[in-house]
Amino acid sequence: MSFDAEARMKFLFALRSRGVTDARVLGAMEKVDRGLFVKGIFADRAYDDMPLPIACGQTISQPSVVALMTQALDVQPRDKVLELGTGSGYQAAILSHLARRVYTMDRHKRLVEEARETFEALGLANITTFTADGSRGFPEQAPFDRIIVTAAAEDPPGPLLAELRIGGIMVVPVGQSDAVQTLIKVTRREGGFDYEELRPVRFVPLLEGLARD
Ligand code: SAH
Repeated sequence: MSFDAEARMKFLFALRSRGVTDARVLGAMEKVDRGLFVKGIFADRAYDDMPLPIACGQTISQPSVVALMTQALDVQPRDKVLELGTGSGYQAAILSHLARRVYTMDRHKRLVEEARETFEALGLANITTFTADGSRGFPEQAPFDRIIVTAAAEDPPGPLLAELRIGGIMVVPVGQSDAVQTLIKVTRREGGFDYEELRPVRFVPLLEGLARD
């Protein structure tokens, strides 16, 4: 399978039918070949709208969920964006086409190293990767215009909320269990935070501390 004209057309059609309407988001989704982020036996499913296993027992999210989260994040060209949960690097690669700068971190060193190699191969020079526990935030580069969390927390992590610029947006899956989670959009206002529930989702859990592998 390759991300040829026909595969791209089908891929974009599936996204549109799931409610992705933002032309900039669709443009970014068309540019990034998901096949480069899925390895091994699942590679031939890369253009299907489904989550797939990646290394370290984690998953690359479903393309329509990546696109809908990106759309909700409303990224502007001058934005500095933080992603918690690099995973395969696919979501960060999409963001890199929309933002000025993307910082992405994962608690698995191996995933971070593989994603960094993919970004280099693709010439995506505005992404900076870190092996770190993102639940503690990332004070070195705060504040951020946009923050996207791609692992499910019980609540939006406090240190990350504190690193959101006034007027900034965070998109985060929250839920008490693996089965029931809701995607939340948090907007920081002068006087506090606005919360909007977007849709049910299913993500791997946000875990504290660095992974051992
Ligand atoms: N955005 C990814 C998918 C992420 S899967 C993609 O596009 O492929 C969720 C990721 O969050 C996993 O790789 C997991 O290791 C990471 N994660 C979970 N808790 C974390 C934490 N506290 N800090 C950093 N990364 C975390």
